[in-house]
Parts: sequence; C-alpha cells; structure tokens
Amino acid sequence: MMLRRPRLSLWEKSYLPQILKGLWLTFKHIPRRKVTEQYPEQRPTLHGPHYRGAPVLVKDPEGRVKCVSCQLCEFVCPPKAIRITPGSRQPGGPDANVEKEPKGFDIDMLRCIYCGLCQEVCPEEAIFLKRHFAITGYSREELVFDKDKLLELGGVHQDQIWKWKNK
Ligand code: SF4
Ligand code: SF4
Repeated sequence: MMLRRPRLSLWEKSYLPQILKGLWLTFKHIPRRKVTEQYPEQRPTLHGPHYRGAPVLVKDPEGRVKCVSCQLCEFVCPPKAIRITPGSRQPGGPDANVEKEPKGFDIDMLRCIYCGLCQEVCPEEAIFLKRHFAITGYSREELVFDKDKLLELGGVHQDQIWKWKNK
C-alpha cells in the first residue's frame, strides 16, 4: 500500500507555522512557576505527598531492630530486590522471646521499583519507605544497601508495635 505525502501549501513550506507554534509554547510557559531546582546546592522541594521514597529498616525507641526476619517482604517484592539471611536473637537476652532477627538484609536500590509493597506487608512495621532521594554511588555494588546502612537511614521509629512487650 502506498501512502500519499500530504501536499503542503506555500505557507506550510516556509516553516513559519512551526516556528510560531514553538514560540507561542515558549511564551506560554514563561509566567508559569519555575520548576528547575538547584540541586545539590538546595534541597529539592518539589516532592509532593505522592512521593514514596526508598525502603529503609527502623529500630524501636529502645534501639532494637524491629525486623523479625519473617521474609514476607522478600517474598512479596516484585523485582526481587530484597535478600534476607535469617538469624537468631541471643538466647536469654531482653528480646529472647522474639526468636529471629536478620543476620543479613540487603536491598538492591537499582532493582527496587519503590512500590511500597514491603512496607505494606510487614507485620512488624520494621520497613518503611523514607522520603530520602539522594541514592547515589559510583558502582552497582555500592547501591546494594546492607542491614547497617538501611538501619542508619531508617533510624528510630516511634510506634506501639513491640513484640518484646508480649511476654
Ligand atoms: S519498595 Fe517494592 S520493589 Fe522496593 S524493596 Fe520494597 S517491595 Fe521491593
Ligand atoms: S522487614 Fe518486616 S516483612 Fe521484612 S522480614 Fe522484617 S519483619 Fe518480615
């Protein structure tokens, strides 16, 4: 099947309509709010309430790792960005009634799609999407955040879900 080229008028062949259209668009945007942000000199302010952030691990107000290594988040994560190595808590310790804690907990930030399913599924409220945005590194390996890094980013979370209180 042959497609016919449209016949252009002299006015269209002059390119003036396209140039004028482009200029009109440019002028239309001039009075609008400027969206270019001077990052990293200034912190970005454009993240609205819809911005989820990136997953991190949290500790309870007494400094204990909240994750009990149930691996639900690992199971549910669509791109398989989470890798957990389960471990045991110290027998006889103050948190001994919670059997497990993660020995290793890695999240590959390059695989993560920041969907928030891990946060939704976690029964312990131990993993949250935090509104940090500067996820940078010089290599792929650097962007696999380990347990220490995730806990450092997450910090302490104030809430009432404490397994240790259920003795
Ligand atoms: S935010 Fe989504 S993709 Fe990222 S680790 Fe959690 S479940 Fe996986
Ligand atoms: S972060 Fe939550 S869902 Fe994931 S292993 Fe720990 S307790 Fe389970």
